[in-house]
Amino acid sequence: MVEQAGTAEPARREELRRGLERVHERIGAACRDSGRDPDEVRLVVVTKYFPASDVRALVELGVGDVGENRDQEAATKVAELDDLRDRLTVHFVGQLQSNKAGSVARYADVVHSVDRAKLVRALDRGAGRAGRQLEVLVQVDLRGAAGGSAGDGAGPGERGGVPLEAAADLAGAVAGSDHLLLRGVMAVAPLGGDPTAAFTRLREVAHGIRQSHPGATWVSAGMSGDLEAAVAQGATHLRVGSAILGSRPPLR
Ligand SMILES: *Cc1c(COP(=O)(O)O)cnc(C)c1O
Repeated sequence: MVEQAGTAEPARREELRRGLERVHERIGAACRDSGRDPDEVRLVVVTKYFPASDVRALVELGVGDVGENRDQEAATKVAELDDLRDRLTVHFVGQLQSNKAGSVARYADVVHSVDRAKLVRALDRGAGRAGRQLEVLVQVDLRGAAGGSAGDGAGPGERGGVPLEAAADLAGAVAGSDHLLLRGVMAVAPLGGDPTAAFTRLREVAHGIRQSHPGATWVSAGMSGDLEAAVAQGATHLRVGSAILGSRPPLR
């Protein structure tokens, strides 16, 4: 038996409510500036390092999409939220080792961070074994496109992604898998680079992939610091953590 997570304290709920409100305002303003319909932009709230009680409060505040980046933490959290499971879409957004793919395939609905053929095969096998279909995005490495470097303080190269020129082939491998649905592309803007240049490149890659895979319409781009640039370049999914939940507690 997994214990169910309790609800957050009222003060924390209020903090989350205000964070969400601010981010929705930013998305609304960015959509107005670029003439987009806010309904085309889905907000994925990245809850990594924060407790299941925060996720519960977010669901009560109307959030339907949450993102996680570490397998073990995500598996535990999703289990604690079993009673809410049908109101939640769980997005796995972090770097994923092939040996964790079977686990992720059991609880995630969408995997944003698929960047190599070995991982495609492992996820497909895992989804098949779990009797599930996974929605998949191909993560593209934009370092060549926008200057800057990889890494978010977690170490160089940690952000991952398939090189631009290999993205279409990898998308083909996803599309050809029995238990994976190719939904589109994802990227993290390189640290210190120009996010607009990076997301423009991502938009072009997405366009190229759609020539062969018309259903691959999702573009996952934009975080707390650069969501406006992502909206302007056609992002359909934003992955926002700290602007809603506050700065992350230090890694344990
Ligand atoms: C943590 C994380 C985010 C959210 O980042 P914030 O800057 O806190 O909004 C988005 N995408 C990925 C892949 C992440 O790991």
